[in-house]
Amino acid sequence: MNGFIDIHQHGGPDGDMVRKRTDFELAEAAKKEGMAGIVLKAHTRDTTESAKKINDELGTICYGSLVLNNGIDPDQAERAITSGARLIYFPTINALNHKGSIKITNNGVLIPEAVRVLELTCEQNVPVSTGHSSLEETIALVDKAKEIGTRVIVIHPELALTFVPLEIQKRLAGDGIYFERTFYGLRNPNYPNRDSRSGLFEIDDQALELMVENIRNVGVSSTILSSDLGQPWNVEPVQGFRYFLDLMRKYFDDNEVLQMGRVNPAFALGNVFHFSEKGGK
Ligand SMILES: [Zn+2]
Repeated sequence: MNGFIDIHQHGGPDGDMVRKRTDFELAEAAKKEGMAGIVLKAHTRDTTESAKKINDELGTICYGSLVLNNGIDPDQAERAITSGARLIYFPTINALNHKGSIKITNNGVLIPEAVRVLELTCEQNVPVSTGHSSLEETIALVDKAKEIGTRVIVIHPELALTFVPLEIQKRLAGDGIYFERTFYGLRNPNYPNRDSRSGLFEIDDQALELMVENIRNVGVSSTILSSDLGQPWNVEPVQGFRYFLDLMRKYFDDNEVLQMGRVNPAFALGNVFHFSEKGGK
């Protein structure tokens, strides 16, 4: 796991969602594994201050992020970035497309606040994540981001909630546009608690096939692999991420896995780990 980066680990506390580990425990485990870093995600709090405190103690190992689940507030995004957040998410659980009411488009056109978030993240060299946006919202976000020059991470395009058909992924792909494909997305929903060949959770073969096909067609160069773990019923995030990378090595060569698990996430975040183009220090 040397030098790998997992941009999607859920640490606690996080509102009423139970988490397996605290931010600190996640960072500690990542460091122990020799990872270059992780990004801490929480649906209900900005993790930036937490990340800073942890890094003061452990050395730079994690970065904070903010999910705009209180509404599309450019000022809140700017404050988070100023204090060190490396990723701004459009709404997740509070998105209209999920369990909330936050809209980022009106009749298919991005609201001005959403455009402002894209502008300021571009100015500050920080990427945005599409969060739990609908397909229509995702397309609007990516189109505008391309115009402005903002890097975008289109999150789990294989999941039903945020599904993006292959043809549309190909159209959205471009400079600075990444597709984040998550290990948790491979969980077989029919057997959530069954022991599997991985010792983790049962892998959904169809989901795996679709993910591999999407990567092949859209490109290794635009794919970021992440765990999306931290739920109490799932395996330790670091272990799950390692298993995911090994699974991908059955379909992609070592350099390709390195690109998707290390180089691309590093560059998407603004090369905060100071890698060379090939991903070495
Ligand atoms: Zn997540």
